[in-house]
Amino acid sequence: MSARRGSQCFQNSAASLAGLVLVSVAAAEVLGRAAGWGAMGPGKPNGHLVAVTFDDGPGPRTAELLTVLARHGARATFFVTAPAVQTHAAQLQALRSAGHQFEAHGRWHIHALLLPPWREWRQVRWHPRTQEPGPHFYRPPYGGHSPWTRLFARLQGRQIALWDVEGRDWTSGDAAGLAGQALARVRPGSVILLHDGPAVTPELLDHLLEGLAARGLQAVTMNELPPQRIGLRAGVRRLLSSYGH
Ligand SMILES: [Zn+2]
Repeated sequence: MSARRGSQCFQNSAASLAGLVLVSVAAAEVLGRAAGWGAMGPGKPNGHLVAVTFDDGPGPRTAELLTVLARHGARATFFVTAPAVQTHAAQLQALRSAGHQFEAHGRWHIHALLLPPWREWRQVRWHPRTQEPGPHFYRPPYGGHSPWTRLFARLQGRQIALWDVEGRDWTSGDAAGLAGQALARVRPGSVILLHDGPAVTPELLDHLLEGLAARGLQAVTMNELPPQRIGLRAGVRRLLSSYGH
């Protein structure tokens, strides 16, 4: 009787301990992801450079974005997906010829938490220019990265690239308003997230580049910035600001 109770008690304790470990791992994961510790974030805050980045292309909108960038003498970085590169090879060539940088946004446009580890391995491995010298940046779809993403990125020589300012071009806001909101958060070194796809983005970009120039900030590629690894303090700041919006 008492032996049975003892074993039950042990089982309960083991279950509580496992639960506690699981909750701690989940909390660390959520906090780590929101904070972006270990990934690449904005560049040095004491210069006059910023990076404008476009996710999800190339596509039918790329040519318009290139026109706006050329008008302002700005260079940008495009985080492209494998299916988009296959469908829009000419646009990839066009942005490359215009001197812009392109990096990986995934073999599939799927959140890391929805991919089993063996698919996440292939997701992180895919890059549009693996034969060329690095760094090779990988921006996870939806910014979602798991402990697997971080491990696989390290093993495959990829750097996870995040951002600190969102253009929010997926919302229904107007171009000038969205550009104004983004400009309010931009500082020297910022990495600004936009998308190669939404109808509002070219006009938003036009306002944004005008605002950046007015503040003496120059839009360059990620390599020219360059981004810095997000450390403990910067991660805490990201966490705080992500809950402030
Ligand atoms: Zn995306």
